[in-house]
Amino acid sequence: MPDINMLIYDLDLPTLTNLLKEWNEPAYRAKQIWQGLYQHFWDSPEQFSNLPKSLRGKLAESVTFSPFNVKVFLDSSDGYTRKTLFELPDRNLIEAVLMRYGDPADNPQIATSPTGRGAKNRRTLCISTQAGCAMGCVFCATGQMGFKRHLSSGEIIAQVMYYARMLKEVNQSVTNIVFMGMGEPFHNYDNSMAALDRLNDPEGYNFGARRFTVSTVGLVPMIRRFADEKRQVNLAISLHAADDESRASMLPINRKYKIDEVIDACRYYVNQTGRRITFEWALIHGVNDTPEVAKKLAARLKGLLCHVNAIPLNPTAGYHGKATDRGGAATFKELLEQAGIPCTIRMRRGINIQAGCGQLAGSVI
Ligand code: SAH
Ligand code: SF4
Repeated sequence: MPDINMLIYDLDLPTLTNLLKEWNEPAYRAKQIWQGLYQHFWDSPEQFSNLPKSLRGKLAESVTFSPFNVKVFLDSSDGYTRKTLFELPDRNLIEAVLMRYGDPADNPQIATSPTGRGAKNRRTLCISTQAGCAMGCVFCATGQMGFKRHLSSGEIIAQVMYYARMLKEVNQSVTNIVFMGMGEPFHNYDNSMAALDRLNDPEGYNFGARRFTVSTVGLVPMIRRFADEKRQVNLAISLHAADDESRASMLPINRKYKIDEVIDACRYYVNQTGRRITFEWALIHGVNDTPEVAKKLAARLKGLLCHVNAIPLNPTAGYHGKATDRGGAATFKELLEQAGIPCTIRMRRGINIQAGCGQLAGSVI
């Protein structure tokens, strides 16, 4: 007997096919449901008008299509960023943020985009993989709230379907998915990868591997495993410091996996996949934005096919560091580039809606 609370997005196609077999339904019904879910984004049994009424009834009594309630959604004052806070049945909160770049047509409020020039029509969705996070990075709102639980693959997927459905109403779609919301995806490896692979399924949502980015705090064995699995997915590493002492003071995981081991694993990833790796860097005034740090970082990354993504620190309640200013950020970038390491300075998006990692849930709890 299926569990009444079974979330339909937790099922892969073979499991769904088996379930239908148990219900004495032909296999092609599973495909129809799959397409309804991942191509039409239907989220209630009545919408599956191509299924017999009896099967719709069976679905209604056996599976659930939505694992959460929308608790709050907030749009940034420039209209380009929407953050949604979802409440799970166990009352845990997770969040997903949509960032639109470049296309004035996306935004009724203003005619030109303040950021993302040259990146027309990008709609990047940032999703959560856990409620809370166990990694305790000091400047991170999610880290500050602690670990609540892993999300299932279906709970990860449902965040994407929620936004896909919303965008479809205005004839748009998600163009990029980043695993950079609450939680550490490599601490919930199997569910995160199952979600990614299911979203990538050509018979379903068919979201191209190269349009995903997975970000990790640096769990070395999982970076190696990910490299071995050779998905054509982008990988980002939250580095934030160029020496072990400084990194461990911000990212406790560095006591377990030192920078050298992380960078060795990154080299392995690049060799295995041929893909460029991204290093995330939250620029914190006087902490990791000095010319000395930039030079040390450049020396560490020398010869690695990589790119540094630097973003001025987002303020959080539990951390007193200050964001680097524009000039400081420009100097940091220049020093890296002089040493042959490409660097992009990202603007902070949605700061007035607390769209930094974990910030909205942190303010509601
Ligand atoms: N757990 C994963 C992914 C989620 S965090 C990871 O740590 O990589 C996504 C990114 O936001 C990480 O690079 C993280 O270091 C960064 N981040 C967290 N809090 C931040 C803050 N207050 N300001 C700027 N970046 C922050
Ligand atoms: Fe977790 Fe990433 Fe936040 Fe660190 S930065 S606490 S790993 S979500």
